[in-house]
Amino acid sequence: MLIRHAGQRQGPDIDVRVRQGKVTAIGMLTPDPDEQVVDAAGKLLLPGLNDHHIHLRAFATSLDSIPCGPDRNPDAGTLADRLRDLDNASSDDWIRGVGYHESVAGDIDRAWLDRVVPRRPLRIQHRSGRLWVINTAGLRRLAAAVQEQGEATALLAEQADGRFFDADARLGRLIGHREPDIERASRILAAYGVTGLCDMTPANSTADLCRFRQWRRDGILRQRVLLAGRHTLAEHCTPSPAPGDDGIAVGAVKFHLHDHDLPALDTLTDAIASAHAAGRAVAVHCVTEVALLYTLAALEDAGTLAGDRIEHASVAPGHLLETLHRLRLTVVTQPNFIRERGDQYRTDMPANEHSWLYRGRAFVEAGVGLAAGSDAPFGDANPWLAIQAAVDRRTLRGHVLTAAETLPPAAALDLFLGDLATPAVPRVLTVGMPADLCLLDGNWPNVARHPGKVRPVRTWVGGVPVHEAGDGLDVITP
Ligand SMILES: [Zn+2]
Repeated sequence: MLIRHAGQRQGPDIDVRVRQGKVTAIGMLTPDPDEQVVDAAGKLLLPGLNDHHIHLRAFATSLDSIPCGPDRNPDAGTLADRLRDLDNASSDDWIRGVGYHESVAGDIDRAWLDRVVPRRPLRIQHRSGRLWVINTAGLRRLAAAVQEQGEATALLAEQADGRFFDADARLGRLIGHREPDIERASRILAAYGVTGLCDMTPANSTADLCRFRQWRRDGILRQRVLLAGRHTLAEHCTPSPAPGDDGIAVGAVKFHLHDHDLPALDTLTDAIASAHAAGRAVAVHCVTEVALLYTLAALEDAGTLAGDRIEHASVAPGHLLETLHRLRLTVVTQPNFIRERGDQYRTDMPANEHSWLYRGRAFVEAGVGLAAGSDAPFGDANPWLAIQAAVDRRTLRGHVLTAAETLPPAAALDLFLGDLATPAVPRVLTVGMPADLCLLDGNWPNVARHPGKVRPVRTWVGGVPVHEAGDGLDVITP
């Protein structure tokens, strides 16, 4: 294939030749007689975007769920109407809501759900991922399962308010797992120009690694994946091709810290050292100043390894930036949370901390490696909305959350262009690179003006088209 007249961010349009999954030539090229020619007509051609922090299975599951967050429900009435409609539908299946936050209708409980959905079983997940609220019809369905599975019925008696904390595994067992639609999730991401994912689910195990390999082999998962997860997540699943040759690789050991339940500092330090000894980098979930301070102390003691990362770094006061830089840590941030959650942050967080939230420019100026991921399904999976938010720092209600942290469009785009293994180093088109590419619907000045409106017209992974849209693109097939 030859992509002709591809726009760049700087310099004249170029022609790019793709053969056997790789970029084999860049410049002013003449089409070979046997070659398919795509005329990009100046549209911007980029290396495919990598989402450096996502939870693919949960994202796929969320596609069948009802969004219950403030971004989609400006008030309690909107959410109640949406749920009521589903209760009136003909199905008796579970209704599954996700992304709930108390700014919509307060601390909802079983009684609130019953008033809205008296008939069908309903469960709603808080956007922290840690709380499920279940209605009476749902509890009855669970009670039946409990009896079938011989578990203590005390489980249900205890939960008179229908609120279950950290009970994912138990509830999953009782409700039963539906296989999520990975193919649909992968297609949606491909339409955003995403060709690689770093799956950051802490519970990822060797069994999950095998599942990802199978999805890739079956062709339902088009993106390459770097899979972070447990310390015990092994490189191999048998029988399987050798690791690395199917686009699925093992990444960092993920640590999930909770402020109210921090491990002893020695325990964290030892766990980090032991991951390093096994050749694995670490990725530590830090959404508060305390968690970040604590993690940096442990990393100072344990030492750091290339590839060590801080996930979110949601609250990063200035005095910690130098340490992040000195320890050569990469911060993987979510600018989309400024857009999606910024209005809550403005009311819930102390004003003096607003400038420390999901920082952009401060990290760059301190020399801290910075990359971004959507954290879907907890954030919107569209990276272009995150890029827009990194540029304008605008919340959904239009407030600007810390103008000093805005990034220029090119730097915001670069947050998604790093290699999966080195997320803070943006890729550029080079001869020999895998042909993971996306062709946007405009030239660079257009894209830079409104990154949130970008709709890629073509996405390729290893030279294979995984997304095709947009009329008026000239393609000549020999
Ligand atoms: Zn996450």
